[in-house]
Amino acid sequence: MQVKAPRGTYDLLPGQIERWQWLIAQAREVFTQYGYGEIITPIFEHAELIERGVGETTDIVSKQMYTFSDKSGRRLTLRPEWTAPVVRAYLEHNLHARPQPVKLYYIGPSFRYERPQAGRYRQFHQLGAEAIGSADPALDAEMIAMPIELYRRLGLSRFVILLNSIGCPVCRPAYRQALRAALAPHLEELCPVCRTRYDLNPLRILDCKSEKCHELSAGVPASREFLCRECADHFAQVQAILEAFGLEYRLDDRLVRGLDYYTKTVFEVTSPDLGSQSSLLGGGRYDGLVEECGGPPTPGVGFAAGMERAMSVMEEQGLNPPVKGGPDVFVVTAGGSRAGEYGVRLRGLALLNELRRAGLTAETDYMNRSLKAQLKAAGRLSSRFALIIGSEEMAKNTVQIKDMQQGTQEELPLDSDLIGWIQQRIGGSKQ
Ligand code: AMP
Repeated sequence: MQVKAPRGTYDLLPGQIERWQWLIAQAREVFTQYGYGEIITPIFEHAELIERGVGETTDIVSKQMYTFSDKSGRRLTLRPEWTAPVVRAYLEHNLHARPQPVKLYYIGPSFRYERPQAGRYRQFHQLGAEAIGSADPALDAEMIAMPIELYRRLGLSRFVILLNSIGCPVCRPAYRQALRAALAPHLEELCPVCRTRYDLNPLRILDCKSEKCHELSAGVPASREFLCRECADHFAQVQAILEAFGLEYRLDDRLVRGLDYYTKTVFEVTSPDLGSQSSLLGGGRYDGLVEECGGPPTPGVGFAAGMERAMSVMEEQGLNPPVKGGPDVFVVTAGGSRAGEYGVRLRGLALLNELRRAGLTAETDYMNRSLKAQLKAAGRLSSRFALIIGSEEMAKNTVQIKDMQQGTQEELPLDSDLIGWIQQRIGGSKQ
């Protein structure tokens, strides 16, 4: 039997999970502050939704989908990204009838059959947001400012914001023509994929990974030079808002999303602290997507950030959540579970249960350790108090309570307000 996780997947264990949970907690806080509500969609969707929503010519749809048939022959796909599912939910639940824009955020796994390498997995996790129902450039800027604020709170300090505008169905045909004209002399030298892109979708030649295609497309005109009045105004406003937010950005001609329903603003945030997979997040405006998915014409904008990428920078730079203390109480039972002594253990477990029900974090020994070893374990866990019960205490109906920080010890009657006594000493936060 294989005792390895499937290729491109990994486990998160205590020791790492604290950082993960911190990332999620901070993200929820930031999203909430910016007025976004959480959405959870199914992990699988109808394959057709993803094919239409993400686009048949994208790498995701053409190469990276986990698509399968269920027992009734439905063609289903493990979600490779969240925008199409969120747009589907927006339509299915008539969210367009609510006050617009509808601002949603998500946190969860996505699946792509990619070649795994550092920072690239087959099951990875994304957090992101979508604002649907408004064409306001303030939302484009918010989709950049919001995750940057999240990174700032986590302590990430270095990133590069790349920005571009790819126009709209009004101005893009002229740009496409200009691009084809500029590339026509080199058509035969392009990679086979780009040769088909030339007719279908020449914008995508700009983000081809092949070095040769990169070189050949170096001098082509930029989409920004072809923007119609509306797109140019919109882009100028996005830039002005980013500047008003004090965010520096770099214009990048190569940043494209070569699909008709992606419009106007596109952006990416990269980190110099990541290796070859340097993209922390990507996003943009998609004013044609809701319609593509069968809804009324509705503008939208969003971003998706890779959680593993943020984790990797945090790990590299030693960015850790504020240290949490150990348990409030470690219940030490002297006598263990040997025959005749179970009464002590039972009393200890009942107390442990009571402490936990009162909202305290409480631990005990499960390895039948000696009294000394149990106290050592309590110390190792940085427990604040050790509550000790032995046969003597049982007989007197008392407990010994040891303050592990001060080293002092007191004996208290079992029927006293033990919990109140502890709560008082660890401060008001646990009341
Ligand atoms: P995309 O949906 O391709 O624009 O990706 C958005 C973000 O998700 C990227 O900037 C990465 O941070 C992250 N991401 C995408 N694919 C993967 C992957 N296979 N493994 C880890 N992170 C990924």
